Amino acid sequence: MTGWAALAEEMVGCTACGLAATRTQVVPGVAAPEARIVLIGEAPGRAEDEGGLPFVGRSGRLLDELLDAAGLHRDQLAIVNTVKCRPPANRTPKRIEAATCRPWLDRQVRVIDPDVVVTLGGSALAWALGTGRRLRDARGQVHRLRLPGSEERSYQMVATYHPAAALRFGPAGEPRQALAADLQLAAGLVAR
Ligand code: SF4
Repeated sequence: MTGWAALAEEMVGCTACGLAATRTQVVPGVAAPEARIVLIGEAPGRAEDEGGLPFVGRSGRLLDELLDAAGLHRDQLAIVNTVKCRPPANRTPKRIEAATCRPWLDRQVRVIDPDVVVTLGGSALAWALGTGRRLRDARGQVHRLRLPGSEERSYQMVATYHPAAALRFGPAGEPRQALAADLQLAAGLVAR
């Protein structure tokens, strides 16, 4: 995916927002050559900031488990975040940081041109549908996502919980059950 590699290369030198001062490195994300689903998390955590790859900590292991249960594997996917640099102490990205980083994510989605976009958690939901939407209300259904400046192309979109929330509330908690069901929903939307 030539466009993806060029975009990632361009991104690694970005100093457009304050997160550049505290990160170890930019974490562009990963994309399989034939990715049909894009998973969007919030931001790199400590392990991602150190290793340069998305979802490699505990959240990543749970995500892999639930992807496997849905019949999906990382080599079919792209996995990215709303901001590409770790916020200090893993705090939620500020609105100005998310807004400044947004063009990178929009460009990533356009380059991949997936069948389905899956947002993981509130920050990614806000990127897709704007602020003020409750995750509990938005999940479990298929939305149409249009990116600014390219309204003629729309994407199927599924909103669900972040794996970190699924870990926090445990195996029987609503976030984990919902995340598992929503990944199944997304898997069924991929063009065959
Ligand atoms: S978070 Fe995004 S906008 Fe901010 S420095 Fe990193 S890549 Fe650039």
